Amino acid sequence: MTNLTRFERGLGLDSTCSICRQGEEDIIHVLRDCKFAKEVWSKIPGGAAVSRSINGEFQSWIISNLTRKSQVTPNWSITFAFTLDSIWYRRNKLIFQNSILSVDQVVGEIRARVNSFVAATLTGAACMRTPLFSSDHWKRPPERFIKLNGDGAVTKDGYGSCGGVVRDSEGRFIIAFSKSLGRCSIIQSELWALLLGLRLIQNHHLGGQISIESDSKEAVKLIEEGCNRGHPCYDLVKSINDLTLHFSFFSFSHIAREANLVVDKLARLRSRLEENMKIFHSPPNFILSLLVADNAVLS
Ligand SMILES: [Zn+2]
Repeated sequence: MTNLTRFERGLGLDSTCSICRQGEEDIIHVLRDCKFAKEVWSKIPGGAAVSRSINGEFQSWIISNLTRKSQVTPNWSITFAFTLDSIWYRRNKLIFQNSILSVDQVVGEIRARVNSFVAATLTGAACMRTPLFSSDHWKRPPERFIKLNGDGAVTKDGYGSCGGVVRDSEGRFIIAFSKSLGRCSIIQSELWALLLGLRLIQNHHLGGQISIESDSKEAVKLIEEGCNRGHPCYDLVKSINDLTLHFSFFSFSHIAREANLVVDKLARLRSRLEENMKIFHSPPNFILSLLVADNAVLS
């Protein structure tokens, strides 16, 4: 319920917007006219027109956008709907949890949600916010996509390592890595796997359309939803989200451990004494059978 509605019903004393403190907070203010909302719209591809269209009733504004055809953003109605939802979610987080998300965090979240939605639609999977979909065997990414699988591991005495593999839409091996991490938590090792894998893809110019999979539901959730500065994974999550902005298309999905066996093996490879990242430009023998097994299941 907006502050204006609360005020009108005698439930609140102040109808002013809690975000900008400039004007009454009705629904169209929160979603479109508030300074914060305008900044978000200005950073969404195709969104500049939205914040410029100041006139109009709420309902006609919604309908015209859901039916709008955009050259810049072919999936405009999806982008529009996710943007509304993320702005509203951010407003509620501020009011009910006193937690502040920046414009860039909200924009990053919207991008991730749109990409996940479109990628999941492309692969014919059912679509939910998180987890996107689970599968008990590995699946090839859609045509023109590459797929990064990442995994982390931590020994009983607290030393972490991680690994990742990148494959194309034919299931062909492109590159893999393994790295020891020093002391870290299991969730940090899972996030390191994705961050290092994405860096590898970027540094080697392997492609711009990436499907990213982890068997850690928590890691996917943290990336999708973000975390506050006090969280021990904040820096890792931020680095991953910043890096994804360099790719034209990406999606994060959670998969079953059984679908992630290749990287499970890579993650456990490094002993704690070996500090350098080991990069494989051709498939090492110890994962060959697992790579073949992944490809044997028709996806
Ligand atoms: Zn406002």
